[in-house]
Amino acid sequence: MAASRIVIENCAIATVDAHDTEYASGHVVVADNRIESVGAGPAPAGLERVVRRIDGTGHLITPGLVNTHHHFYQWITRGLATDHNLFDWLVALYPIWARIDEPMVRAAARGSLAMMARGGVTTAMDHHYVYPRGTGDLSGAIIGAAAETGVRFTLARGSMDRGISDGGLPPDFAVESLDGALAATEATIDRHHDTAFDAMTQIAVAPCSPFSVSTELLVEGAELARRKGVRLHTHGSETMEEEQFCKELFGMGPTDYFESTGWLGSDVWMAHCVHMNDSDIAAFARTGTGVAHCPSSNARLAAGIARVSDMLAAGVPVGLGVDGTASNESGELHTELRNALLINRLGARSESALNARQALRLGTYGGAQVLGRADQIGSIEAGKLADLVLWKLDTLAHASIADPVVALVLGAAAPVTLSLVNGVSVVEDNRLTMVDEDAIARETQSEARRLARIAAEGRSG
Ligand SMILES: [Zn+2]
Repeated sequence: MAASRIVIENCAIATVDAHDTEYASGHVVVADNRIESVGAGPAPAGLERVVRRIDGTGHLITPGLVNTHHHFYQWITRGLATDHNLFDWLVALYPIWARIDEPMVRAAARGSLAMMARGGVTTAMDHHYVYPRGTGDLSGAIIGAAAETGVRFTLARGSMDRGISDGGLPPDFAVESLDGALAATEATIDRHHDTAFDAMTQIAVAPCSPFSVSTELLVEGAELARRKGVRLHTHGSETMEEEQFCKELFGMGPTDYFESTGWLGSDVWMAHCVHMNDSDIAAFARTGTGVAHCPSSNARLAAGIARVSDMLAAGVPVGLGVDGTASNESGELHTELRNALLINRLGARSESALNARQALRLGTYGGAQVLGRADQIGSIEAGKLADLVLWKLDTLAHASIADPVVALVLGAAAPVTLSLVNGVSVVEDNRLTMVDEDAIARETQSEARRLARIAAEGRSG
């Protein structure tokens, strides 16, 4: 029997279930950390142990947003190298990133998580791959920040072992050894990965990219992930330069290279996937490999436009990602719903490339799929975890739009009246409940300044 119930009534509901079921006015009942019921009209009468009853008039309730690609540490290097393509941007920023330490990483994670949670993200992820020697327990700091914010979290434990002297892009002092990276990743899984249905923390194995990682690290990383039963994540097919790099070094394009190293499969998801031909998309569909689509970052770095409508038509699982905030300064996922729709229509030059409901699905159920958690989160269905967002749509920004899903996706970023993660409130009236966002703003500003100072000293010293 449920210990406590929360009842939300009188709101529009977009369940994002398999039939895209919607209710113009309905109810959701949460019992402990699960969704107990969803349907039209008021909640069933006679419910016991109701600790909270919410009148959702003027609101839309959706599944919580799921972010599938991010680099939290970049929160303190936003607004730099603003007119660069990917490779030039990386070369400009690697020397700064290589100076990060544990307090900086903790502050940046807090900033990234706060911004995401305030915008309706209930499951966050961080692909962290910069582990300078002797800088403390960076993974532990990031996981601790996620727990403080109250969101569900996947840490993709990244790594780089291909420095400049091995033909890679990062400076040698920013990379780990092959054995060191594998051992640290395994230790992170052993310490933090939770396999429970309602897990709040999961770990993935995540070497950074073909141009910063050795072939051995990809191959052995995939073996490690499969031995441990965790998922695999990396960057793939982001730019033309990356394709050129793979052809010169490995004699094949990125997708074929990933396949040759064990990196296609239903336990893999890859960020970007912009430069994919028909056979690449078919290979992703055949193997069940997922995609984290990052429209704003791809636009910011002029990388190109991923073929999302073709991927969806082929059956490729696709979620959304903000990517690191050094290439998407906003750090918000709800605005990516709109950007995904707009950019895909432009890319396909077709008004039917992606509609508002498909965009919402990318940001919710699609994200759950690529994280391997579609049975637990990503839609509003009885038995699933209570990760829900109540969007306020009755003010100036949205009130004159009749269709609430269209208002959410195409309108301005909607305020969040309530966000529940695991049945627990993390946002109330557009403010975070568990952390002090003003204190986080001050902390991230001072850590950003400290990093800039140390990086400048490094350049002159
Ligand atoms: Zn990225």
